[in-house]
Amino acid sequence: MSSAEQKMQFIFHLRQQGILDERVLTAMETVDRGVFITGTFAGRAYEDMPLPIPCGQTISQPSVVARMTQALNVGPRDTVLEIGTGSGYQAAVLSQLARRVYTIDRHRRLVEEATGRFQRLGLSNVTAMTADGSRGLPAIAPFDRILVTAAAEDPPGPLLAQLREGGTMVVPVGQSHSVQRLIKAVRGPGGVEYEELGDVRFVPLVEGLGQDEI
Ligand code: SAH
Repeated sequence: MSSAEQKMQFIFHLRQQGILDERVLTAMETVDRGVFITGTFAGRAYEDMPLPIPCGQTISQPSVVARMTQALNVGPRDTVLEIGTGSGYQAAVLSQLARRVYTIDRHRRLVEEATGRFQRLGLSNVTAMTADGSRGLPAIAPFDRILVTAAAEDPPGPLLAQLREGGTMVVPVGQSHSVQRLIKAVRGPGGVEYEELGDVRFVPLVEGLGQDEI
């Protein structure tokens, strides 16, 4: 199959999965997932499945990336915070839709590799940082949108506090290693409203920096 055909199939598959937001589909079409996967699994970059990346983590399944991106409803003037840089793929997709993206991972190696990819792709509106993302990024807050791509037991309080009024956070919530519920939290004037968006499976949000960075 040619790469053009592969891309058409990829977008067709996302539409079938209920991704109808044209901006999200264009972003998914623009960002080449192949750039974010190296080594043994490189040949499987265009399959709709999660794949292993260094530090024992995973790059999410493209249909899940698209679903979370669509749920986040990012506007062109938004500043977005992502927790869980991983390969950098989700942040690169967000960079197509937002004014500015900050992404945090607890593994320095992943942050360095992702930064190299953002530079090679010319994505100048994404900044990756090594930190404990469960504390958010108070120096830059408030954020219009926050996306957590690791599973938390509850929507993290510091992250909700860093959401501007009217802002949206999407986060997988549940016990680590089991199936989690994808939750959309909207911070309104009278408090936070929650909506459930179905099941997902993510690696857990772990407090503190990765073993190799301490
Ligand atoms: N969004 C990524 C996939 C995320 S995998 C992609 O597009 O490839 C989940 C990531 O969350 C892992 O890289 C893991 O290191 C990170 N993570 C887990 N707990 C964290 C924490 N407390 N702070 C920052 N990153 C965390």
